[in-house]
Amino acid sequence: MAYPLVAIVGRPNVGKSTIFNRVVGDRISIVEDTPGVTRDRIYARGEWLAREFRLIDTGGIDIDDQPFMKQITEQAQIAIDEADVIIFMVSAQEGLTDADEHVAKILYRADKPVILAVNKVDNVEMRNDIFDFYALGFGDPYPISGSHGIGLGDLLDQVIKEFPAMEKIDEDDLIKFSLIGRPNVGKSSLVNALLGEERVIVSPIEGTTRDAIDTHFTDEQGDEFVMIDTAGIRKRGKIYENTEKYSVMRAMRAIDDSNVILMVINAEEGIREQDKHVAGYAHEAGRAIILVVNKWDTLKKDNRTMQEFEQHIRNEFKYLDYAPIVFVSAKTRQRLDKLPALIKMVDQNHKRRIASSVLNEVLLDAIATNPTPTVHGKRLRIYYGTQVSIQPPTFVIFVNDPEMMHFSYQRFLENQIRNAFDFTGTPVHLIIRERK
Ligand code: GDP
Ligand code: GDP
Repeated sequence: MAYPLVAIVGRPNVGKSTIFNRVVGDRISIVEDTPGVTRDRIYARGEWLAREFRLIDTGGIDIDDQPFMKQITEQAQIAIDEADVIIFMVSAQEGLTDADEHVAKILYRADKPVILAVNKVDNVEMRNDIFDFYALGFGDPYPISGSHGIGLGDLLDQVIKEFPAMEKIDEDDLIKFSLIGRPNVGKSSLVNALLGEERVIVSPIEGTTRDAIDTHFTDEQGDEFVMIDTAGIRKRGKIYENTEKYSVMRAMRAIDDSNVILMVINAEEGIREQDKHVAGYAHEAGRAIILVVNKWDTLKKDNRTMQEFEQHIRNEFKYLDYAPIVFVSAKTRQRLDKLPALIKMVDQNHKRRIASSVLNEVLLDAIATNPTPTVHGKRLRIYYGTQVSIQPPTFVIFVNDPEMMHFSYQRFLENQIRNAFDFTGTPVHLIIRERK
């Protein structure tokens, strides 16, 4: 699912991150051992009038060792390259500055809608201060106040009006995947090796700029794959492309656009904080995940190496216990031929539908093996379950009192469901509801 992307641009201190945080709100992360998921966010989910979108705070992407004007130039360039709609932010408190004019000059080149927001208009009297900003040439400025939460509704109304029309095409049969991982783990080598397979037919597809970087191919069974390259594997050599924040933002976007994530880990270097941050995002987004350990050729191995490496990964990514691990080498091509089948398998599991009758048999068996808990003499009753969606498979389980469903019992039910059906590679979501 591709979401419209909104970028906030402007010189430092106008209030970009304040507005960003207001719009995305506080979403509590369910992955406790991934620090960084909520801290220092520059990319997050936003919603207004039931329209879902993604927001980037370009001010959070600082490009090392670049002078001030260069920084804001690059940040504006990121917005132009990435966004569907740009919010250009200035401040009524400091008034129009040279840096604002500098940003404006870059944004003139954008072939994208630019909405001018004047922040720090904290009271009605200050509304007269916005007129100077007409000089920037972006039409009517929207007065807002991040600290007082004023004017955001009108601004967001305008933002969603500018969203491109999203074609709803039936893409159910396409297998959309992306390779995610830090620079140098071997993503482009893996892509080239995969696409270089004789049995793979790559079809160039004309389309939007976004499609142009995605690669469509068909395997020998005739199954259609789309490799989503929002992760920036085909590098264009821009200054900001090597900054960590930018690559994390790109990775999150690729995760949003894909169904299956190949999380690539470098066997030589092991797992880093950034890997966990990105894997945590994929897990929370409910994507199917395969852990790909690349550069397996570089390790000196004995008969326990693979098992130990696997243990290391399981410890570091506890919440990804459903994700298969594969040890490959883009260099020697070791086990690369296994990847397409593995991608297909987890994609199928991610889309798997279970008939209610079969599901309820599994639930009955589960309750028979391990009776539901009682609290103060009252027993948890499970009435029935039903699958409500796929990608990821999501089940609603109706009970007498959801409060009595302990985490451990819920975990047990999930395991019973996993034992009964193949959900390798995909998260499974259980929603516990009350039924009187
Ligand atoms: P950024 O560098 O553009 O991301 O700006 P920040 O969001 O960090 O804000 C810079 C400063 O402006 C902080 O001290 C904020 O508290 C303050 N600020 C943000 N929004 C408003 C506002 O609407 N009114 C006032 N008076 N101050 C604000
Ligand atoms: P990316 O930045 O993740 O796209 O990584 P690249 O594909 O550009 O690879 C980074 C470096 O690692 C290059 O020098 C590759 O030749 C090397 N490399 C990639 N895969 C392997 C592998 O499986 N084994 C070894 N020894 N080197 C590899």
